[in-house]
Amino acid sequence: MEPHTPARIASRTLQRALQRHSPLLTRRHYASTSTPADKKERIVILGSGWAGYALARTLSPSSSSQVLVSPRSHFVFTPLLASTSVGTLEFRAAIEPVRRLNLAEFHQGQVRDVDFDRKVVRVQANTKDDATTRSDPDALADPSTEFEVAYDKLVLAVGCASQTFGIEGVREHACFLRDVGDARVIRLRILQAFEKAALPTTTDDERRKLLHFAVVGGGPTGIEFAAELHDLVHEDLRKMYPGLMQHVAVTIYDIAPKVLPMFDQNLANYATDMFKRQGIQVKTEHHLERIRCVGDHLLIRIKEEKDEVGAGIVVWSTGLTQNPLVRQIVDKQDVAGLGRIVKDPKTGGFLTDDRLRVQVEGPDHKRTTLPGVFAMGDCAVVEGANYPATAQVASQQAVHLGRRLNKGDLEAKPFKFRNLGTMAYLGSWRAIHQSSGDELKGRAAWILWRTAYLTKSMSVRNKLLIPVYWFVTWVFGRDISRF
Ligand SMILES: Cc1cc2nc3c(=O)[nH]c(=O)nc-3n(C[C@H](O)[C@H](O)[C@H](O)COP(=O)(O)OP(=O)(O)OC[C@H]3O[C@@H](n4cnc5c(N)ncnc54)[C@H](O)[C@@H]3O)c2cc1C
Repeated sequence: MEPHTPARIASRTLQRALQRHSPLLTRRHYASTSTPADKKERIVILGSGWAGYALARTLSPSSSSQVLVSPRSHFVFTPLLASTSVGTLEFRAAIEPVRRLNLAEFHQGQVRDVDFDRKVVRVQANTKDDATTRSDPDALADPSTEFEVAYDKLVLAVGCASQTFGIEGVREHACFLRDVGDARVIRLRILQAFEKAALPTTTDDERRKLLHFAVVGGGPTGIEFAAELHDLVHEDLRKMYPGLMQHVAVTIYDIAPKVLPMFDQNLANYATDMFKRQGIQVKTEHHLERIRCVGDHLLIRIKEEKDEVGAGIVVWSTGLTQNPLVRQIVDKQDVAGLGRIVKDPKTGGFLTDDRLRVQVEGPDHKRTTLPGVFAMGDCAVVEGANYPATAQVASQQAVHLGRRLNKGDLEAKPFKFRNLGTMAYLGSWRAIHQSSGDELKGRAAWILWRTAYLTKSMSVRNKLLIPVYWFVTWVFGRDISRF
């Protein structure tokens, strides 16, 4: 037992008093603050997606000290996810490790709350796994490793989550496509479905169910996934499972009257005509009501169809809902004595001004900015602008804010989005592209699609790896091993 000397008792009393008054100093909590030697401003960025990662890349380490908090250890180049889910590209070619950035600190964890009065964020570390699977990242956060991180400036860039509309069985049985973990699950399930269907013990009826691939959502993500899947089946699996081809079907369901609503009618028609020729069914004005799992396959109930439809996998890509952290923050009653954080009525995200500063509304309904707090990407809406929830917007906002913060001239210029056009891959080396007053379709659009994503990929490593994988796939086919 330790001796109770007066010095030790005094030291313990002091320690306890400090802990009581500053939760940051308790064993489970710590805060990283600027030391007197390091006078640089601490900019804490939440999220390592298009907005958070691009901001961390843009901020200059000589003018500020960057701290990134994210449940995943990497950035994902989302436009290439569909290609990785079928093996056209390898997973690592679509991600960038966060720790390669020149950061002062990186904390792999889930932010649970922000205390705007004390200027700290509360983090629970992800000690169990990377938050790359479709499973709820909340389940990975470990409450026993909770700590706080202090900020001078805070940038909220936590993105959105997948919208399931509370439909029965979607969360449990559908596959999402938002991260490399999701792409891995999809790739494995497609290959498993073919292997099961190839067993001599499988009946033709089961084969039809297993090899029906249902895509819910006719936006660019759903369309591109269906197109990539078509390429995998017709360029590679056809050679290995010729006897199964008669049972393969791909269906896209959407509740809207047309798919690809962000494209002009002419381009959307080109896409649906092409899908028809490729044998991909597009069922618009169809409502999925339930998914259940029966043995090796799924059964989906569609309002407009009499019987339940069998499927090997259901890929869910219907839209976005707010991140739980955003919901929690906008519900706070009184922030820093200034009032309530203003939420965008349509998306439920943070409302910002054109300098990307989070807005607060006092009891007198007057709006001001929350000092030192910014929001961008999918979790935010710029007041008076109608920007889409895309990587283009998120990365342009990040670069704009990063440059302004580097120069310390936030007021100099407002953020303005420059639309570089919208693209979608349609399979068989064809795509569509639309920008203001300009349209392109077919092979030329596909070349543009590939060139754009290659040049936009973040690291030199991936700029080299991506064309190498494309070449390897073209010459040797996709890797269909299951692991
Ligand atoms: C398959 C797919 C294809 C797409 N293709 C295109 C395309 O071709 N062109 C285009 O412009 N857009 C595309 N998009 C949309 C684009 O990816 C998003 O608009 C973009 O990712 C938004 O960036 P963000 O930084 O706001 O959010 P995200 O990129 O989603 O990043 C959010 C980050 O916050 C982290 N995070 C979440 N919760 C917390 C928390 N509590 N604490 C800390 N961190 C947290 C997440 O782990 C993640 O790192 C595509 C999206 C998908 C899914």
